[in-house]
Amino acid sequence: MSDQTSIWQERHQISMARSKKSQELLKEYDATVYQPALKSLKERCAAAGHGRQRLWDNGIGWAWNECTACGARVGDAFET
Ligand SMILES: [Zn+2]
Repeated sequence: MSDQTSIWQERHQISMARSKKSQELLKEYDATVYQPALKSLKERCAAAGHGRQRLWDNGIGWAWNECTACGARVGDAFET
């Protein structure tokens, strides 16, 4: 294994450990504060008809429209 590959793998492991720790620390906050707040925001935006829409394409055959104000997926996803 080259030095560059070894360094990349170590960096990847460090980043993955940080991501896992972040998820653990935010789990309760996300469930009790963040997700309910976003849900309420998207419901209020939907009731007002949402804002402008932006087309998202995942590059592997699926696309959808997203409200640029609240970030909600609007309408059904479709194949491209
Ligand atoms: Zn919206």
